Order: sequence, then structure tokens, then C-alpha cells
Amino acid sequence: MGIIRSIRRNRILKEGLLPTDTWTWLVRDHPILNGLSDAELALLRRISTLFLHEKVFEGADGLELTDSMREVISVQACLPILHIGLEKYENWKTVIVVPDVFIQEHTEFDKAGVAHEWDEDNSGESWDTGPVVLSWKDVEASGWGDGYNVIIHEAAHRLDLLDGEVNGRPDLHQEMDPTEWREVFSAAFKDLKRRAGRKKRRLKIDDYAVEDDAEFFAVTSEYFFEQPHVLVGEYPDVYRLLGAYYRQDPLVRMKTR
Ligand SMILES: [Zn+2]
Repeated sequence: MGIIRSIRRNRILKEGLLPTDTWTWLVRDHPILNGLSDAELALLRRISTLFLHEKVFEGADGLELTDSMREVISVQACLPILHIGLEKYENWKTVIVVPDVFIQEHTEFDKAGVAHEWDEDNSGESWDTGPVVLSWKDVEASGWGDGYNVIIHEAAHRLDLLDGEVNGRPDLHQEMDPTEWREVFSAAFKDLKRRAGRKKRRLKIDDYAVEDDAEFFAVTSEYFFEQPHVLVGEYPDVYRLLGAYYRQDPLVRMKTR
């Protein structure tokens, strides 16, 4: 980190750390933060404060953003990078918030060069270095510990991009084995896909995960932080590797709370 940025960050933290009353309700209202140690909560408060200052937030489609909306998004966006650093979001500058699910227009060219267009409902979108778009309705449904978290989902796509490709594998730490990652994730993906084809209703993990490798990483990241017991019960090796990447163990901290 450059010296100028470091000085600027120190100044932000000195002058404008998230106020205690705000911080208290943020922690209380987000069960997924349960079990974090005092030191981790203090770190999360610092990183969330910096995220709030450094990212641009915009309301769209008539949504008027309030401070508390920005804070709710920031604290959840910062949970995954708590122990791997805010620098991971360097390529993420803007957060756009819309009131509800939005229609995403897609254009794809087939082999003959003919454009095909279609619309898709989306609760979040993040596919390049552009803004992350979030539906406020889905943000409100996130953070309760029920397995769904649109912010963590889109944040995972951002991390996935860091090795240059959105392929379900983020920039692994040096001590991690890319071959093991690929094998574990692809075996779990295939298993979920097979089970989704048979009896969807009995799946404990949202079958959106079987769209592709990138969605599998994003959805299992949601469960990692929201319902670690579900993920560890279904795919213990996926849980273990996500733990090695995020450098967190939500299962242990939620059990010992
Ligand atoms: Zn996705």
C-alpha cells in the first residue's frame, strides 16, 4: 500500500470511524457476525469504515440511499475480506443499489455472428471491473444466517476475478494448491448438479450453484458465512478450502458464541 493512501486511511479512521451506536446496531442486526472476537469486530469496523469512504455508492431506479443502507452493505461486503485485506476490492469502485430485482439485458453472438438477446431477472450483478449492482430488497434479506446473501455472492464474483478469469477460483494464497481446489470444487459441483437433476426439493444448497463454476463458488461462499453447518455437512472439503481462502472458520465461531 502506498504511503499516501496509508496516511489518508489513518486520517479517515481517526476522524470518522463508524460511530459506536451505529456499530452496535449493525452487529446486533446481522446474526452472521455472531461469534467474531472483539479484535475481529474492531478490525471489521475499521475496514467497513474505509470501504464506506473509498467506494462510490449510487441509488438507481428511484432508490434514495441512506447512510444506514450504505453501512449495511459495507459491513457485509467486508466480512469475506476481513482476514485477506481490503486490497482485494481494489477493482471494485462503485456500488449501485436498485429497489428490487432488475432486468439484465444480455447480448451474445453465436458462431455465425448473429446476436441473441434475452432478459434475465437479477438480484445482483458483478461481472467485470465495473460497478456491483445490488437489489435493496435482496440486501435486506441478507445477513440473517439463512444461507442467502446477495452482497457476499457478488463480492465472491469480485474475488473470483482476481486471477484474471471468472471461473470459480479466486486468487489462491501461496500455500494453497490450485489442483486440489479444482478437484474438490469440480467433484462437489458435479455431485450437486446430479442431485439437482433428480430431486431439487431435497437439496440443502440453492441449486443456482449448479449454473456454472463461478456461481458454485459464489453460492457456497454465501453458505460458508451464512450457514457453515449446512456447507460442512454437504461438502466438507469445499468448506475447508473456503476456510483456507477466506482465513476464517465461521462454523467454530458460530458454535462457540
Ligand atoms: Zn452470481
